[in-house]
Amino acid sequence: MLVIDEERIFEEIKRRKAKRVVMNAPDGLLNKVHNLSKKLERELGIEVIIVAEPSYGSCDTVDEEALKLNADVAFHIGHKISLPFLGKRTVFIDAYDDVSFKDVLEKALPLIKDFKRIGLCTISQHIHSLKEAKEFLEKMGKEVVIGKGKGQLLDGQIFGCEFYPVYSIKDEVDIFLFLGQSRFHAIGVALSTNKPTLMLDPYLKEVEDISPLVDERYKRAILSIYKALDAKNFGIIIGLKEGQLSLLRALQLKEKIKKFGRDVSLIALREVKDDRLLLFKDIEVFIQTACPRISLDDYHEKLVLSVPQAEALIALWEGKKIDDFLLKSHWL
Ligand code: SF4
Repeated sequence: MLVIDEERIFEEIKRRKAKRVVMNAPDGLLNKVHNLSKKLERELGIEVIIVAEPSYGSCDTVDEEALKLNADVAFHIGHKISLPFLGKRTVFIDAYDDVSFKDVLEKALPLIKDFKRIGLCTISQHIHSLKEAKEFLEKMGKEVVIGKGKGQLLDGQIFGCEFYPVYSIKDEVDIFLFLGQSRFHAIGVALSTNKPTLMLDPYLKEVEDISPLVDERYKRAILSIYKALDAKNFGIIIGLKEGQLSLLRALQLKEKIKKFGRDVSLIALREVKDDRLLLFKDIEVFIQTACPRISLDDYHEKLVLSVPQAEALIALWEGKKIDDFLLKSHWL
């Protein structure tokens, strides 16, 4: 069960003498957040506004919405990062999962019997489970490595687009175990490190080798790059979400692509969806600098490349090899 760090919310409201706050969270937490908003209003006499737009990651903060809504604080719930605060108003609030990994770790043992050095990683709600998992595996005779955090990432933590703690130890381990029920993240670990990766699902108590999904994603990603080789008209999308805005990256890509005689238009969007993209009839290939997973995981009618795919496309135009285009600590 996910447990929101309510105590910290109460503390921050009192410390800041806040009168109005906004809160946002992933869909799975919205009902809990709704209940919490009622509690805050009742016990503290403040006004709470829930920003119910989809929230997929720590990039989905709502600092600007808080300003528009004249709120004193913006609580971003459920995506813990290494920083407690961001922007002018945003406070990151932890929501940890109290589910146990004991059973699924035991189930994984026969599958990792031939691997000596194990890399452990997870997402924010299970960070506290890394220590126990490490101790368990060490008792079973394994060497266990948890990569150091960097930037917004804590030790052993990954995002769907940032993998430094696993990338930095990929040569020290034989396999990665991802703790959590998220193929999305486990696939990211495997693609960014090129290592076998197992997903340990604590709810279903199942261990999943995600290699078939990884192969499919990789092939689809590389095929898109080759399909874009002869295109003449490109659209570079600048994501308007707070944590996704990367104007500089978009401008750099524009300059590079223009050097190869292509026409490039800049387009800004909050949500990168086909219904918006298909309005641009002359654009053959989109490159979006918002979230790499929109390109790598979703299906689109037109080609929609991520930043590493766009860089690989440019490398191909330059006559270089691109096999390792996703083998990176960061896909933005
Ligand atoms: S940019 Fe995409 S992958 Fe990265 S944190 Fe945001 S939603 Fe997740």
